[in-house]
Amino acid sequence: MKQIEECHEILKDPDGYVRRLKEDGGRVVGTFCSYAPEEMILAAGAHPYRLFGSGRKIRLAEAHLQTYCCSLVRGALEDALDGRLDFLDGVVFPHTCDSIQRLSDIWRLNIPATFHLDVILPVKLDTTGARQYLIDVLNRFRAERGEKLGVTISDSDLAQAIGIMNRIRSALARIDVLRNGQPCILPGSDFHALVRAAMVLERGRAAVLLEEVSAELEKTGPGGAAPGPARKRIILSGGVCNHPDLYGFIEEAGGAVVGDDLCTGSRYFEGLIDGKADPVTAIAGRYLERVVCPAKHRGLTDRADHLVQLVQQRRAQGVIFFLLKFCDPHAFDYPYLKEAMDKAGIPSLLMEVEDRLPADGQLRTRFEAFVEMIQ
Ligand code: SF4
Ligand code: SF4
Repeated sequence: MKQIEECHEILKDPDGYVRRLKEDGGRVVGTFCSYAPEEMILAAGAHPYRLFGSGRKIRLAEAHLQTYCCSLVRGALEDALDGRLDFLDGVVFPHTCDSIQRLSDIWRLNIPATFHLDVILPVKLDTTGARQYLIDVLNRFRAERGEKLGVTISDSDLAQAIGIMNRIRSALARIDVLRNGQPCILPGSDFHALVRAAMVLERGRAAVLLEEVSAELEKTGPGGAAPGPARKRIILSGGVCNHPDLYGFIEEAGGAVVGDDLCTGSRYFEGLIDGKADPVTAIAGRYLERVVCPAKHRGLTDRADHLVQLVQQRRAQGVIFFLLKFCDPHAFDYPYLKEAMDKAGIPSLLMEVEDRLPADGQLRTRFEAFVEMIQ
């Protein structure tokens, strides 16, 4: 499908795409996490651009970050120090994991050309004060963001931005449901490209493109292709997965990803914002109600309960935990999640990788063994 090709093409050089938006007169704000309020950046007339690091060799960032920081944080700092992100007008750092918090300080001191905003979100989301505190933080962010970009963000600007983000999230959620119903409807790497491209593309274009893809898939199904042999149904769980090849390896091993609990997956598109409520309260509401990542807390077993439920709802036969090396929050969550999977009788596999995947053969063997083992 030509829209999916467009996404793959953009992801070959996302910086180049965003640089062109900037040259056409746009303003670009880098973000680091799905807790960065994209709606507010959009409402200020700027383009939110999720930073992942280009994966180039780390040289300059070595002087600022230890080798035991995750590759995402080290890679993004390397790109900034090397001038590859000189098109950014500013960067937003939600206070989530330690690595992003420390990166915020290092960035402020070493990349002075961009403006810099921290969003100090609550960590515990189920306390009585969390909602009002989060609303206050977002209101402050709204004022500071407007000031840095020289604009006043009105309620109608916010409502319009919420509308666009809701269209993007709804379309991705529909495609996610379709891949659950018919895993062969599109390769996992295409689904990954759609989600990743939504974080790069001009958001109005992203909304149209994703709606077209979802409508086309709903109409034609898997393009008349034969369903193929039944695949083992798998849920991917973890943080950031920036490895489209991974999906192909799972598929070659006889599996299919039918759902996920990833920052580059459902955590990006899950939950719509109430378009009729006060916009800031509604944005806060989505963050409070969305399934937490390990940098946030709401109950002792919230993530595990969600994962077990997701496996059951999607009739999955196994879970692959896909963790970035040195990602502490996910590494700390893993033992209790694994225990919960064991208790529920759900087979699981742990894959821990750096910004590059290990040799093909090694991965293939592990996936094949896992897929063969699950029932
Ligand atoms: S795991 Fe949490 S803190 Fe890390 S990128 Fe995802 S949403 Fe942000
Ligand atoms: S949540 Fe993990 S992968 Fe994401 S920035 Fe933090 S340490 Fe890195």
